Amino acid sequence: MVRQHRENRSAFCRVRCPDCENEQVIFEKASTVVDCAVCGHVLAEPTGGKAAIKAEIKAKLQ
Ligand SMILES: [Zn+2]
Repeated sequence: MVRQHRENRSAFCRVRCPDCENEQVIFEKASTVVDCAVCGHVLAEPTGGKAAIKAEIKAKLQ
């Protein structure tokens, strides 16, 4: 029996800053604002659950 388990457990994702194109790994459920390490652009804002990602998501990491 082949069954795909697609549990949504990815906690981190790699995003690219829309301003300076810096790629950075952020926590998807960030509880604080996450800034770009290079230019300070806000990449994610906490919403109480999953953070609101304000940047381009390049990849999800497990
Ligand atoms: Zn930036």
